[in-house]
Amino acid sequence: MDFNLVSNIGYCFTLVKESYPLEVIYYSHITSAAVSLIVGLFVFVNDRKGLANKVLFFLSVIFSLWVFFNLILWTSANSTYIMFSWSFSGILIGLMFILSLYLSYTFIAKSDAGLFKKIIPVLFLLPIIFLTHTRFNLVNFSIINDCEATEGQHFVDYYYLLGLFIFLWILILAILKYKKAEAGFKQQILLFTLGMEFFLFSFFVSGYISSLTAYYELEFWGILSMTFFIGVLAFMIVKFKAFNIKLLGTQALVVAQFVLIASMFAFVQTTTNIILVAVTLVLTTIAGWALVRSVKIGEERKEELQIMSDKLAQANDQLRKLDNAKTEFISIASHQLRTPLTAVKGFVSLLLEGSYGGLDPKQQDVLNKIYSSNNRLINLVEDLLNISRIESGRMEFKFDKWKLEGICQEVIDTFILKAKDRGLYLHYNPPKELLPEITIDGAKIHEVISNLVDNALKYTKKGGVTLRLEPANAGQKQAVRIIVSDTGIGIPAAELPYLFARFSRGKDISRLNAGGTGLGLYVGKSMVKANGGKIWAESSGEGRGSRFVIELPVRPD
Ligand code: ADP
Repeated sequence: MDFNLVSNIGYCFTLVKESYPLEVIYYSHITSAAVSLIVGLFVFVNDRKGLANKVLFFLSVIFSLWVFFNLILWTSANSTYIMFSWSFSGILIGLMFILSLYLSYTFIAKSDAGLFKKIIPVLFLLPIIFLTHTRFNLVNFSIINDCEATEGQHFVDYYYLLGLFIFLWILILAILKYKKAEAGFKQQILLFTLGMEFFLFSFFVSGYISSLTAYYELEFWGILSMTFFIGVLAFMIVKFKAFNIKLLGTQALVVAQFVLIASMFAFVQTTTNIILVAVTLVLTTIAGWALVRSVKIGEERKEELQIMSDKLAQANDQLRKLDNAKTEFISIASHQLRTPLTAVKGFVSLLLEGSYGGLDPKQQDVLNKIYSSNNRLINLVEDLLNISRIESGRMEFKFDKWKLEGICQEVIDTFILKAKDRGLYLHYNPPKELLPEITIDGAKIHEVISNLVDNALKYTKKGGVTLRLEPANAGQKQAVRIIVSDTGIGIPAAELPYLFARFSRGKDISRLNAGGTGLGLYVGKSMVKANGGKIWAESSGEGRGSRFVIELPVRPD
């Protein structure tokens, strides 16, 4: 072919160019190239390291380049431009096919294709590269018919065959990977392959048929199918955060709005309209940018919160494990401690009773101190054992019918001497009328009341303690209340909410020199709860005494 002749033809006008409205050609080409470039660039900017992201970006650039040359073919009447543009068509299409395969590997197989798999398609591309600038590619220039270049049929056959080959390759790859993929990724493989194969198929079928029949309108289908593929990708990005993009609906919407408004440039003709569209585009872009920014900030906060709550959940989990280990340890240690302590108690009792001979008052005094210290240790061990029983759910209860009057009287009998020793009064106000028997674990409730009275005596220096028993109404139901009030140190309002927590002790009690562990009320609360009741504390403040109330329901038989 005489290329000088071609360049000398200058301008020629054709039927084809007259029969298509230019706007439609601009619209279909520019919009699809812009959409694919924007999405390609967006995906790349969001994660520059992701291989699939890079390949998609490269594919969108090559596609846009091809669209650009194709646009020249449709719109230009300059024979030099047409020949130049057309000469690139084949190589760009070949590249697009190969990049599509590479993209499928990086996306579906989530890994780089092996060297061998990279070499094969490149080998297939080599003939296209070498033959592009030769007569095999472009054989002629048709002046009379359509003012277009004439392609070498074998050259066209070859690169479209490459398209078919790659179409099948991707199909097989997708089927194989789909079978092995986890459920969540299967849907992504399906969508991706559908979009990709639809694009490839439409592209080579429409391209090939149009080159055979010279019915070039078909090429529009190929171009539009890319927009479809990009649409599928955009959907996947929004739905599955594909390509590692935490893209939001807002961002997709803003980009789509930009493309739509920008594409209006293809239609508008008067200067006023062009200015109007330009102003609209600038304003919506600014508004869109602000919107995306605010949403992004919100999203970042959400992510930070999520990370923090994940960490908290982890820490919580570890704490729970530690807590369980501790409960187990306390249980084992306490059991081991209890046996020797009980033995000490027994022997000291025998000594005090004179079973091993008489004692002088000094020895008796020392032994008494040992006895009471040992008793305190036994109580502590018992508390610890109770805690481990409560926390591991091994606390056993024996429910029976009980008369609370009897239990309260017993408690008073136990503590009356202690109160006297400390110079305090200990009053008991029995109910005015007979109370119904209630179903409780009597021993446990006895323990709780004892602890309340013991505490009241412990934390009172002047005055004394009153134990009251009275009927009450818990909601609509019948109940009884056991009230232990004292004239002691009282409880500051700030401490009231924490009183029943494990190891919780008032901050001022150290002044009183009162021994304790901060476990009694915690154990008591658990026991009362297991009996279906409630326990709480009241105090008007420091130095104004305290009131502890246990409320137990009277259950119908
Ligand atoms: P402990 O008496 O061994 O410290 P408790 O669980 O029985 O443990 O009590 C927890 C805390 O509640 C005490 O350390 C004390 O600060 C406060 N408390 C309990 N009973 C009284 C009371 N009657 N008056 C004032 N403070 C009290």
